[in-house]
Amino acid sequence: SSGAPLATGGATVEFRSLRREFGATTALDGLDLTVEPGELLALLGPSGCGKTTALRILAGFETHDAGEVLVDGEDITRIPAHKRDAGMVFQSYSLFPHLTALDNVAFGMRMRGIAKSERRGRAQELLELVGLPQRAGHYPHQMSGGQQQRVALARALALKPRVLLLDEPLSALDAKVRLSLREEIRRLQQELGITTLFVTHDQEEALSMADRVAVLRAGRLEQCSTPSELYARPATAFVAEFVGTMSRIPCERSGDGVEVLGRRHEVDGTVPADGALDVLVRPENVGLRPCQQSGAAADGRALVVSASFLGGVTRLTVRLSDGTEVKADLPTEEAAGLPIGGAAEITLPQRPVLVDRRLATA
Ligand code: ATP
Repeated sequence: SSGAPLATGGATVEFRSLRREFGATTALDGLDLTVEPGELLALLGPSGCGKTTALRILAGFETHDAGEVLVDGEDITRIPAHKRDAGMVFQSYSLFPHLTALDNVAFGMRMRGIAKSERRGRAQELLELVGLPQRAGHYPHQMSGGQQQRVALARALALKPRVLLLDEPLSALDAKVRLSLREEIRRLQQELGITTLFVTHDQEEALSMADRVAVLRAGRLEQCSTPSELYARPATAFVAEFVGTMSRIPCERSGDGVEVLGRRHEVDGTVPADGALDVLVRPENVGLRPCQQSGAAADGRALVVSASFLGGVTRLTVRLSDGTEVKADLPTEEAAGLPIGGAAEITLPQRPVLVDRRLATA
């Protein structure tokens, strides 16, 4: 939108071969990643994969051992934190408890020597932007967690930063507030066109908010794609299993494809040359229909072991004769025809998503 008074424009952020070690722990093992101007990029990955460390190095709260971080082509790692033009919001409410919402938002402007009337006007405008025009005089303890995070967001935007850094900003909030703030952060970010990095370990949050999602694993980039691409075409089994739900079913090599449950399938990507194999399938791609007996002999025969109601669909878990458990999402009315303890016949999509080496069992 044109003429937004608070628009900051988007910077490009590049992490290049970024390394950080803490004693024997390698937090970042050569991270390469580019964030495009105006993009909301989610950094997603399991605990300890280096997400927060990458963000803190960009913000200037953490040092690095090697590599560089460029903002609009300039290496910012030698610039002190307060001169980096980054606004940051943390997981826990980090507002100053003795300052009102308005003074919290205006704090950075005060440090910069911006005149009182200007900073108060601007702080009020920012509180309106985050939907809290009536809360200017309230102290943090008089506000809900969600309201405090809105104030923290307004404060992060107050100095018109070139990049917005959000470190699990919704994790401490209850589910309903989390959902509404998700939408609000996204709307605001798009309105301002500000380049934003969003750290989360919640894959649903990442997929629903981000333009692109960078999946990190052990300090490296595993894949960076749009949410739909990541979901439909995961580059590795790690991504496939981290994003969404996957079941693993043992399979055998068959030509350039695999045989699973008595049928031959083509494969996306390559089939590992040696070792035992599994196919990975999403619950929505598994078909189930009732059948007469749970005879162990037939391929694709399974026993329904549990059901969880998810609204329009019900997720059934079935067990194959070798003990493998497979999840299948069925329209709830169809799932009603497959009671727990009953027998079912499984069908898989013609192209399984991925084939991976079977995991060693403990
Ligand atoms: P989480 O979601 O749990 O915060 P993360 O992906 O953000 O995980 P980081 O916080 O970046 O991961 O940590 C990466 C690794 O570096 C972890 O093994 C962590 O224990 C370690 N680490 C991070 N900061 C420090 C520190 N100051 N001192 C020692 N080890 C650290």
